[in-house]
Amino acid sequence: MKKIVIIGSGINGLVASNYLAKEDYDVTVIDKNSYTGGACIKDSLVIEDKGIDFAYGPTVLGMMPDFIFSETGLDKSIETFYPKTPKLVYFPDSKKSTKIFQSHNELEIELEKEWGEKGDTLGFRNDENKVIEFIQYLYKNAVSPSTDIAENFLGKNLTDLWIRGSAKDLLDHYFTSEKTKLYMGMTVIESGPASIYQPGTAFTIPLMDSGSVFDGYWGYVKNGIWKISENLTEINKSLGVNFCLSSKIENIDTATGKISYTSNGSKNELNYDHLLFATDPKVPGKLLNNETVKSKNEKRNYLGSSGKVTAFFKNPVKWVESDSNPEYDTSFRFFFSTNTLEEFENASQNAANKIDDYCPGYIQVYAEGGAQRKMNNNEHLDKIILFTKNLSFDKSAEKLNDVKEKIISRVVPHIKNPNDLVFSKFLTPKDLHETFYFPEGNIDHMTLDGNQNFDKRTFSSNSNSFYKYYNYDNIYYCGAGSFPCGSVAGTPGYMCAKQLTRNEKQ
Ligand SMILES: Cc1cc2nc3c(=O)[nH]c(=O)nc-3n(C[C@H](O)[C@H](O)[C@H](O)COP(=O)(O)OP(=O)(O)OC[C@H]3O[C@@H](n4cnc5c(N)ncnc54)[C@H](O)[C@@H]3O)c2cc1C
Repeated sequence: MKKIVIIGSGINGLVASNYLAKEDYDVTVIDKNSYTGGACIKDSLVIEDKGIDFAYGPTVLGMMPDFIFSETGLDKSIETFYPKTPKLVYFPDSKKSTKIFQSHNELEIELEKEWGEKGDTLGFRNDENKVIEFIQYLYKNAVSPSTDIAENFLGKNLTDLWIRGSAKDLLDHYFTSEKTKLYMGMTVIESGPASIYQPGTAFTIPLMDSGSVFDGYWGYVKNGIWKISENLTEINKSLGVNFCLSSKIENIDTATGKISYTSNGSKNELNYDHLLFATDPKVPGKLLNNETVKSKNEKRNYLGSSGKVTAFFKNPVKWVESDSNPEYDTSFRFFFSTNTLEEFENASQNAANKIDDYCPGYIQVYAEGGAQRKMNNNEHLDKIILFTKNLSFDKSAEKLNDVKEKIISRVVPHIKNPNDLVFSKFLTPKDLHETFYFPEGNIDHMTLDGNQNFDKRTFSSNSNSFYKYYNYDNIYYCGAGSFPCGSVAGTPGYMCAKQLTRNEKQ
């Protein structure tokens, strides 16, 4: 039996090990933490004398392909819910929301009425769906992304617009209203301050909707998203995957395929035929002690600008706008701080250039508590998560209490019971770096800018082996810094495992 060692037990290490164990490899996963899951773990607090668990890193599920959810066996033990109600969008000058209906026709009417949109909303959604179908084809078949394949699938015009092009050109092509452009383009800065003017950034827009576990939408896991990593760890153990936790790697001898590590004070060794890194992309360069790789890695862009506030309420949050429809309790809400694309771009670039600690862009609110109640998980506190853009990298949350208050105060006017807010916890990019080791706090491990997107999101020196790490023969990289991107999806882990198995069988 060939031996595979996977370094990193986040979602990508877990998904890769699941698929490889089922292909009859002898799989060992090593992690420096004492637990599995990487960023997808829970945190716990005692508030008002009672313990409460909540999502430490990620909160919502959405980018996972449906086949990964079922083929890993997660679908047997994980209960989920995703809102079918419209997303609700607020601009600085709007009291009431604009509704992002799932129905394309209803959406077109709403955008024209609320934002004066005169462009081609239906055309945008139709073309986006074609691109998403293409992306999902790459996922399922573990095909390395390339513009040639894109042109075969989509034709030259759509490839130029949606894959090679900038977000700005894409949005200008379909829309006339600044607000529509802002809403449709906001995901370009989801993980870090990528410029909407940079070629290659258009691709992030369909990318963020390319999951299929909820048909391109985002939703919730009963108890919390960390159940995904907890349950997958147990499934993998039952498949025979070995886990070596609390392990510090001392040396990797690539000539003999030997890893030396210490765990709980004892020295150990492992042999490998293939070595996979499911960490951030800088780790392999350091552990392999390869100066060329390290210096190439330094030239990449890792900057992150996302943070989050988890707010705890002693009674269910009553949204001002849920009166007419209580189903809106679980809707995703978006609060923008700018009215035009240009202001939005300036804010994100100001955060990149550290002009200020916080350069407000948008806040995405996840109604985690409302969703838990929908899944019959009644907890003693309600939780909402305020996923926030654009925070500069330098300071941890304890130094930015004023910023936390500013974030909360943008959302609170839309809540009828603000006095029920009993506690809040804030994390900045610096905290994400220190807690989860994300380079420069980026939730995708590496910025999704135009130079690190689609076919450029690779570390391989060989265009036919997309997940190989530089020119190593039997060393791969499949963390969030590889194609397609981060998130609780495991797609890089899956694609890497499939390509490795396929190459071996040839
Ligand atoms: C605040 C926040 C909010 C987010 N929100 C969402 C969300 O709502 N939905 C979503 O889908 N995604 C979200 N994300 C992104 C998502 O969590 C990540 O992209 C994803 O979890 C990355 O998974 P991974 O397996 O690639 O890496 P990680 O989870 O980073 O795992 C890497 C593992 O490698 C280990 N490791 C590192 N160095 C070494 C070493 N030297 N030796 C041994 N082990 C090592 C680490 O301990 C870790 O366990 C969020 C992330 C954060 C932080």
